Amino acid sequence: MDYKIETKCVQAGYQPKNGEPRVLPIYQSTTYKYDSAQYLGDLFDLKVPGHMYTRLSNPTLEYVEQKIADLEGGVGAMLLSSGQAANLFAILNIAKSGDNFISASEIYGGTVNLFGVTMQKMGIEVRFADPKMSDEEIEKLFDDRTRAVFGETVSNPALNVLDIERFAKLAHDHDIPLIIDNTFATPINCRPFEFGADIVTHSTTKYMDGHATCVGGALIDGGKFNWANGKFPELSTPDESYHGTVYTDSFGNMAYIVKARAQLMRDLGSQMSPIASFILNLGLETLHLRMARHCENGLKVAEFLAGRDDISWVNYPSLPSDPQYPLANKYMPKGTCGVISFGIKGGKEAVVKFMESLKLAAMVVHVADARTSVLHPASTTHRQLSDEQLVAAGVPGDMIRMSVGIENSEDIIEDIKQALEAAK
Ligand SMILES: *Cc1c(COP(=O)(O)O)cnc(C)c1O
Repeated sequence: MDYKIETKCVQAGYQPKNGEPRVLPIYQSTTYKYDSAQYLGDLFDLKVPGHMYTRLSNPTLEYVEQKIADLEGGVGAMLLSSGQAANLFAILNIAKSGDNFISASEIYGGTVNLFGVTMQKMGIEVRFADPKMSDEEIEKLFDDRTRAVFGETVSNPALNVLDIERFAKLAHDHDIPLIIDNTFATPINCRPFEFGADIVTHSTTKYMDGHATCVGGALIDGGKFNWANGKFPELSTPDESYHGTVYTDSFGNMAYIVKARAQLMRDLGSQMSPIASFILNLGLETLHLRMARHCENGLKVAEFLAGRDDISWVNYPSLPSDPQYPLANKYMPKGTCGVISFGIKGGKEAVVKFMESLKLAAMVVHVADARTSVLHPASTTHRQLSDEQLVAAGVPGDMIRMSVGIENSEDIIEDIKQALEAAK
């Protein structure tokens, strides 16, 4: 049955059989018992389905992976210990030392460091493309060692909406995939595979978990990219570390996600824990309800801020007056997310006073959970970036990032109002 996305949030993944627990069980076990040595051998050869060791796979995780793949409309998914691990694996699965990839410049600060520092040390070069560049300018960044294009549906914290179809075309013209970090939009508001993306990643830590309880990541395979086009020999020629398996031959449209597990998860071991995936699944069951409320409250708060003369600017792509509204409305007609960024008049002093005066909204290093929160990115999450990098990431010094929660919007607005008065 192809259910609607709201039903999938609640019901996809775990399907209990007669007499089995109604709710997804936590399989808190590192190991699995087998009666036949032959079966176990076949498992190691990836010839039969099953679990052998929780560093590679686990039933609780598998059901949640099925749900997330279903929500995104992909063919398979893999959970990881963090969003950082998900983005690292997404690239590492198809690029090696000497290769390069192109990334939209306005992305999460942690990803800027991962790509620009740590992966650089691994010999994989990132080339940042400002989405404001023309196609011709971006074209110049490609060469015959370019292996992927990367971007965020709605970037954290700049809230830049990516023109996914444009970036998909740039990537596909060079026979390489588009990888989209869909953390902020979630599959409730945008399903990047429908616009040409090939791989989707998530920091499940954010809206998917939704309650600020567990750090986690997800990697989802859209199943449509042709990895046998000659540019990806690691997928289309024998993997000597896996008995000569040719992923594209043996696993067809699941080649990418099978390789990510069989090779990268085996070697790097960044698996989510069973209990974390159980908690993630609880979050997913209400994702559709929460996203709707986050967007409804986000719009009300953005409208309130836009009408104040002590606010210097408001960035919320779902606000009809926002320059990004046409793009946001094309890719996310139901709304973007609950995150708003804005500047307060009066400089850093006013920013600090405002944040410290909030009572309901808490100052936390987090976004995208049920509780309203605020953060000053330039002095926290993006602290390691240089002034130039801050500008490139779209993070001006007076920027406040507010993650609007699912409380009553009147209470949130009252709180902001009193804090703005206190900051005067
Ligand atoms: C938070 C975040 C990440 C990193 O995820 P962690 O779970 O914190 O490792 C990656 N991308 C985006 C868009 C994020 O917001």
